[in-house]
Amino acid sequence: MDANTQQPQPIPQPTPAAPLPPSSQAQASLSSPALCPVCHQPVPPNAYFCPNCGAPLRTKPPSIGQQLSAYLVSFFLPPFGLAYSFKFLRQNDPIAKRAGWITIILTVVSLILTVWLSELFINSLNQSINQSLNQVNLLNPTF
Ligand SMILES: [Zn+2]
Repeated sequence: MDANTQQPQPIPQPTPAAPLPPSSQAQASLSSPALCPVCHQPVPPNAYFCPNCGAPLRTKPPSIGQQLSAYLVSFFLPPFGLAYSFKFLRQNDPIAKRAGWITIILTVVSLILTVWLSELFINSLNQSINQSLNQVNLLNPTF
């Protein structure tokens, strides 16, 4: 009989759940930070290491000594302090972020002071040069 000869129609499978675009995935991981990025197990919100697999979840905030040395370097060796700024601002920690902004502010203040002081120095240098030139002119009126 012809009843068994019918071909099975290929049914197009509907894709029920499209994969999340990467942007929404990133937002999901940001809004729920209490998942280990390595083993995807729930972790305590303030943990530094995953209790399941031991992966580092966030870096420790800089100690007081590290912050002070970063501030000193930022003020007295301005360009090198920016290395601390980048290092601190990369960390996902409010203490480190605050320290990073303070190093940036100290660097800017130090640069402004340096420019201001060097302008003062150049101005006084110009004045002394002008004075000595005037003296030379007074000594040699025919010049
Ligand atoms: Zn883990």
